[in-house]
Amino acid sequence: MSTHVLLIGSGGREHALAWKLAQSPELGNFFAAPGNPGIAAYATCVSLDPFDHAAVVDFARENAIGLVVVGPEAPLVAGLADALDAAGVPVFGPSAAAAQLEGSKGFTKDLCAEQNIPTARYERFADRDAALEYVAQRGVPIVIKADGLAAGKGVTVAQTLDEALAAVEGCFEAEGAEIVVEECLEGEEASLFCLCDGKGALFFGTAQDHKRAFDRDRGPNTGGMGAYSPAINLSPEATRRAMREIVEPTLKGMAARGTPFRGVLYAGLMLTDKGPQLIEYNVRFGDPEAQVLMMRLESDLLPILLACAKGDLSGVEPRWRDDRALTVVMATEGYPGAYPKGTPIGPLPEPRDDLVVFHAGTKLGADGTLLSDGGRVLNVTARGPTVREAARIAYGAIEAIDWPSGFWRSDIGHAAIMREDV
Ligand code: AMP
Repeated sequence: MSTHVLLIGSGGREHALAWKLAQSPELGNFFAAPGNPGIAAYATCVSLDPFDHAAVVDFARENAIGLVVVGPEAPLVAGLADALDAAGVPVFGPSAAAAQLEGSKGFTKDLCAEQNIPTARYERFADRDAALEYVAQRGVPIVIKADGLAAGKGVTVAQTLDEALAAVEGCFEAEGAEIVVEECLEGEEASLFCLCDGKGALFFGTAQDHKRAFDRDRGPNTGGMGAYSPAINLSPEATRRAMREIVEPTLKGMAARGTPFRGVLYAGLMLTDKGPQLIEYNVRFGDPEAQVLMMRLESDLLPILLACAKGDLSGVEPRWRDDRALTVVMATEGYPGAYPKGTPIGPLPEPRDDLVVFHAGTKLGADGTLLSDGGRVLNVTARGPTVREAARIAYGAIEAIDWPSGFWRSDIGHAAIMREDV
C-alpha cells in the first residue's frame, strides 16, 4: 500500500529527506510545502503556510495524506503536529509541548536537573540586574543563552567579563526576555540522533558539524557550513552512555509530564572528561546533518518515519552503509551577514550514487536558470569508504560548479581526516 506524503520545509535538510523518501517503493503522491527547485524533481511543490494549521489540515484531508514530515522546528514549536494529530493525520514531529525541548532552554535545563541528566550547571533569570550580578560574581568563561528559539544565534560563550555582561544586556533588550547562564563545558562536540515513538529511543546515527563561517573554525557562527557522519569522536561506549544517561531519562521525564516525545531528538553533546554532557536538544533533524545521515541510510526512510509518527518503532531496525558521508555548504559571499540574492549558478552535477548536490536556498529565474535565494545555497554531499575520500569527491564536484558569488569552507571533515590518517 502506498502512502501520500506532505513534506514541510524548503532547505537542504528537506531536499535530503525528499531525495530519500522519493526512493521508497511505498511512496504515493508526494507534496512539499513550499519545497525548492531541488525538491521539485520528486515532489509537487505547493504554497501552504505551515503556521496556518487549518490550511495544512485541510490540504492533508483533501489529498488523503498518510504522513506529514515536518523539517524545521518553528512550525513544531507553534503546534503544527498537535493540529494534524487532532485531525487524525500521522505526523513525524513532536507536539508543541514536547518541542519545548528545543523551544525553551530553561525548560530543558529544569528537566535535566529533575532527571539527573549530565549537563552544564545553570541558573535561569527573568531579571536583568540579578543576571548581571550573578555573571559578575561567577566570572568567565561563562555561557549566556536567550531562552527561546533563536535560530542558533542566541548563545554567547564569553571569554571576558565585558563580553558576558554585554550578552546579558543584549538578551534583555527583548521584551519579557528570560535567559539561562551556564557553566562553560570543555571538550569536543558531537551530534547524536534518535527516533522516538513516545515510549523509547532508537539510535539514528551521529554527525559532527562545522558552525563557524571560515576555515580553522574562524569567523562568526552560522547555521552550519558542513558536516560529516558518523562522528569520529563518539565511540560506541560514549554513544551507549549518552543514550542511557541523557536520552532515555529525557524521554522518561517527558512521558511522566504527560507530553511524550515523538519524532527525531537531536542531542548536541559535549564529550568531557566526565563523559558525554548535554549542550542542547533540537526536535528535528540538523541542517546540514540530515544530508549526511540520509546519504548513509540504507533502509527505506518512509516506513521508519511512518512507524515513528504512529508511535510504534518496535521492530524497526535501520540499516546503515559502512561508508562515511560528508557535506560542504556553498554559501553566498557575505553570509552570515548581508548578502545578495538572485546570483546565477551554473549547471550542477547529475546525482550519482556517491554524490548529490542538495538545494538549500535556490530559486529558478524566469528563463529557468538556477539562482541563489539565501545565505546557505547548495549542499554538496558525498559518500566514500573514508572521510578523506568523501571530501575528495565533494570538493571535486564543487570545483566544477560555476558560481562566482559563492564561498565555502575548504576544511570540512579535516579533524576526522587527520584521525583517520593516525
Ligand atoms: P546551543 O545553541 O545551545 O547548541 O549552543 C551553540 C553552541 O554554543 C554549541 O554548539 C557550543 O559550541 C556552545 N555552547 C553552548 N553551551 C555551552 C556550554 N555550556 N559550554 C561550552 N560551550 C557551549
